[in-house]
Amino acid sequence: MQSIVRPVEAVLLDAGGVLVLPHHEVLAVHALGPLGIVPEPEELDRAHYVGGHALQVWPDDEETIFAKWNRAYLEHLGVEANPESMRLLKGAFQRLDMWTRPAPGVHDGLAAIAGTGARLAVVSNADGQAEEMLRDIGVCQVGMGRGTPVDAVIDSTVVGVAKPDPRIFHIALERLGVAPERAVHVGDLIGADVVGARTAGVRPLHFDPIGICTADDHEHVANLTDVAELVAASRPRS
Ligand SMILES: [Mg+2]
Repeated sequence: MQSIVRPVEAVLLDAGGVLVLPHHEVLAVHALGPLGIVPEPEELDRAHYVGGHALQVWPDDEETIFAKWNRAYLEHLGVEANPESMRLLKGAFQRLDMWTRPAPGVHDGLAAIAGTGARLAVVSNADGQAEEMLRDIGVCQVGMGRGTPVDAVIDSTVVGVAKPDPRIFHIALERLGVAPERAVHVGDLIGADVVGARTAGVRPLHFDPIGICTADDHEHVANLTDVAELVAASRPRS
C-alpha cells in the first residue's frame, strides 16, 4: 500500500506484544506446566501473535477477547481449548507478573526511534500499572531512567478509555502537542490498534514480527528498528 509520507513527529506505541511479551516462566508455572506441555520459547512468542490475530474484529466484552485469544493461543501450542485449559491460561494472563518480559530487540529499537527526534508515548490497554511496570523492567519511563525516555505513558485504566476508542489516542497526542496526521501508532492487534489509530486519524503500523497478517489495507512493521527507519526517512534531515 502506498502511504502518504508526512514527517512523523510522534510515535505512539502499544505495550503488550510490542514492548513486552508474556513471561515464559509465569506461563510455565501457572498454565503450561499444569497442562503438561513444555513448548519451545519461540513457539510461546508466536502463540501470542497467533492469539492476537484472532481478534481482527474487536469484541465488545472482555470475556470474548479472552476466549478468542486464548483459544487460538492454545491451539497453536497443540493444546485442546477446553474449560480447564482456558481457565488456567486466563488465570495466568491475569497475573500482574505476566506482562513483564522485555520483547526481543526492544531496547535497541526504542533507542533508535528516540534517536529520530520524534516524540514518544505508550498507549496501552492495561490495568493501571503500565507506567510503573515499564519503568521497573527498564524498558522506558517518563523522563530519565534505565530505559528509553518517553513523553507519556497512557494507560487505559488510568484515563478511563481503551483502544480502539479514538479518544485514548487523542489524549496521548494532546500530551505530546502533536496533530493526529503527524503521528504513527505501532500495535500488534488489528481490532484495537490498527482500527483504533485509523479512527483517530493516526497512521497505523501493524506490528507483526511473525508475518501472520496478509491484509493489504494497512502497513506492517516486523520490529521497532523498521519503525525507526520509517520515521527517520519521513523527517527532514537537520
Ligand atoms: Mg498489544
